[in-house]
Amino acid sequence: MTRRDDDRQTSFANAPDPEIASGSPRQTPPGRRMLALCLMAMAVGYLLTGWGRQWFAGRGDGEVEFETMNTYGRIFVPRGSGSAESPARLAELALAEVRRVNDLMSPAGPDSDIRRLNEAGAGEWVAVDPLTWTVVMEALRWHRLSGGAFDPTIGPVKRLFRFDQGELAAWPEEGELAAARAKTGAEKLLFEREGMRLGWAVDGMRLDLGAIAKGFAADCAAEALKRHGVTNALVDIGGELRVLGMKPGDPPAAWRAGIRSPRDGNEIAERLEVTDAAVATSGNYERFFTFAGKKYEHIIDPRAGAPLSEGPSSVTALHPESCLAADALATTMSVLGVEAGEAFLREQALGLFSRGVRVIMLEDKPGAGWRRVEMHVDAEGGVRVEETALPE
Ligand code: AMP
Ligand code: MG
Repeated sequence: MTRRDDDRQTSFANAPDPEIASGSPRQTPPGRRMLALCLMAMAVGYLLTGWGRQWFAGRGDGEVEFETMNTYGRIFVPRGSGSAESPARLAELALAEVRRVNDLMSPAGPDSDIRRLNEAGAGEWVAVDPLTWTVVMEALRWHRLSGGAFDPTIGPVKRLFRFDQGELAAWPEEGELAAARAKTGAEKLLFEREGMRLGWAVDGMRLDLGAIAKGFAADCAAEALKRHGVTNALVDIGGELRVLGMKPGDPPAAWRAGIRSPRDGNEIAERLEVTDAAVATSGNYERFFTFAGKKYEHIIDPRAGAPLSEGPSSVTALHPESCLAADALATTMSVLGVEAGEAFLREQALGLFSRGVRVIMLEDKPGAGWRRVEMHVDAEGGVRVEETALPE
């Protein structure tokens, strides 16, 4: 047997090279033909087994689509991910990270940290997982730095409304609203660093990490991929994206993220090209209701204690490395609006973000018209603002 045949058999048994699998036209002596037939049968058998199929599938792109946190997600690990491991396996492994975040932080999870906390009365302590602790501490930091615009305790007010895209039958009664407002305010969330315990100062409060947990889950998935040597991948948790590197190809291309039009959620208003970045959008095209001719979105203005009705209709935040920060920023800027949002960015630029943060606001405000405002934080903490009127 020549050296070359040896190599071929090895590759035939372990790696189905299409040129070899389709058979060689060379003349072969009968003994060797028999051997070749046996090897071919073994290879076909191998491919028909679960292991073989898994191996074969593992060489293509790896992609998983799933439901989590009341939304849909997708993890895409391309064939040229940069890691020697199978893209399919890598995508599964990243999904396990997302599931872990969901199991800990979903308020509906059977034994989630947040459910246990939300069922606790005033003065009861609930020990939480270090991951939950990290997200809650970040949420409290955003609450403090945003002057209360970001508030993960708005749940009791949010529950008085239904954001099912329909017309709200009746505005909640003032007494009902006042009672709910009394059960909000992140300063009433108590925490004890030792033991990572959380508790409430007032009965009936609820923690809602919906504005930050999707971004955090995207970060967890992306960081797990990076630990396995992945340099190119895309993680999308309900529109909160974290992309690594570029989309492999010839030539490689930037990943593309679409911003949906706040006027019509089925239309893409703008496409962004991103590499190594996080992108998060808060918009009023999916979860909203209408009342007396106005559209109200699922973001609560904690200062008013009511859903947002005016202000930017869609806010997209880009951050170079943290989807949690992009997610928190998109929600915060939605509450603040263009002017206060710009002031917030100027104040917090260096404290909260590294360079390269961008915010794109598309709004259709009665009186102000249909406009696009982009804010860009530079390395020195300066903020550049560009405003454009959009064509009707
Ligand atoms: P996002 O789509 O990331 O802007 O998150 C919106 C979700 O965050 C809502 O569905 C609420 O669960 C929660 N939320 C609403 N208003 C606020 C707020 N002012 N601060 C923090 N979380 C909020
Ligand atoms: Mg958010």
